[in-house]
Amino acid sequence: MTTNIYFDYAATSPADERVVTAMFPYFTQKFGNPSSRTHSFGWTGAQAVKTAREQLAEMLGCETQELIFTSGATESINLALKGVFEIYAPKGKHIITSQTEHRAVLGTCKALEQKGARVTYLAVDRNGLIDLEVLKNSINDQTILVCLQFANNETGVLQPVKEIAEIVHERNSIFMSDAAQAVGKIPVNVAETRIDLLCLSGHKFCGPKGAGALYVRRKNPRVKLQALIDGGGQEEGLRSGTLNVPAIVGLGKAAEIAAAEMSRESERVSLLRGRLERALTVNSGVQLNGSVNLRLPGISNLLFSGFTAAELISKLPGLAFSAGSACASASGEPSHVLTAMGLNTDQARRSLRLSLGRFTTEAEIDEAVKRILALANKHI
Ligand SMILES: *Cc1c(COP(=O)(O)O)cnc(C)c1O
Repeated sequence: MTTNIYFDYAATSPADERVVTAMFPYFTQKFGNPSSRTHSFGWTGAQAVKTAREQLAEMLGCETQELIFTSGATESINLALKGVFEIYAPKGKHIITSQTEHRAVLGTCKALEQKGARVTYLAVDRNGLIDLEVLKNSINDQTILVCLQFANNETGVLQPVKEIAEIVHERNSIFMSDAAQAVGKIPVNVAETRIDLLCLSGHKFCGPKGAGALYVRRKNPRVKLQALIDGGGQEEGLRSGTLNVPAIVGLGKAAEIAAAEMSRESERVSLLRGRLERALTVNSGVQLNGSVNLRLPGISNLLFSGFTAAELISKLPGLAFSAGSACASASGEPSHVLTAMGLNTDQARRSLRLSLGRFTTEAEIDEAVKRILALANKHI
């Protein structure tokens, strides 16, 4: 058994070898700029981008023209929130989001508040879920956007996006969802869920880093955005700059693989997580944070009794896991997600996120359980 085992798939995942293989030719022989219309080098690049767009559209159940390639979920989130605010501010300046969103959403909302936006941060219950009645009552004539995540990156908890979309549309507002954790792991279909703006990132589902997309609904309703980056007018004028063809090819391939293998993989990962959680809860009094059933298959957020996450992390250097999000572990603050769910600071500090994915094995789970229990038993 190798000493280092990776349990931080929610922070990032290794690229699938098939993804990397698909990308390779687009660095060298097939290096053309897809905007070059006068020669075959450009046409080859454009064809590759077209294929990737089709692969992604197929997975999301949307039209190819509704996808904007970006550098990742953070950029997609910025484009969606700021782009909507720029266009719709004359209609109203109210945005609704939740307290448990990713920093990319919360940080962008803070920036918009500086520009005159009024932002409501909805609370969540102990399970990590928002209250739909409270959402209903929070929407007013000034509400231009409701931004609620598909799946939480610390707990895996899934918001009821379909019900949210209905409520938001009844009031003629726009529904945006950060689906960076959900895409590629569980079915995310914009036709079924009626999400109007959806953000995703390739490296969360075994694609390359620095490649993401924003889905923008074209009809019922047609969502308008102001670009953040101006220039050559690529991506429907919403994201200028020469397209990162190898990364886009990798993103498309990652989507194709994820869609084809999703049902088998989510079942396998979910069984592995069950094995991990059973072993730890039975043998060391560990409790689960967040809804047990309404969550992604690969994330487990566990509340330990004997020690803090920081202690576990430092005493088990061979196990790669985190106390919360990668962004929060840099700041050392207790998780804003767990405190919003009602955990006190002490409980939040004793919570650990383990996230599993495509290359996690049963042997790795058993080895991790062995090491964690050995440490736990020393404390008892
Ligand atoms: C990872 C993540 C992001 C940011 O994605 P980047 O690719 O780092 O820009 C945003 N939201 C959620 C829920 C995430 O998990």
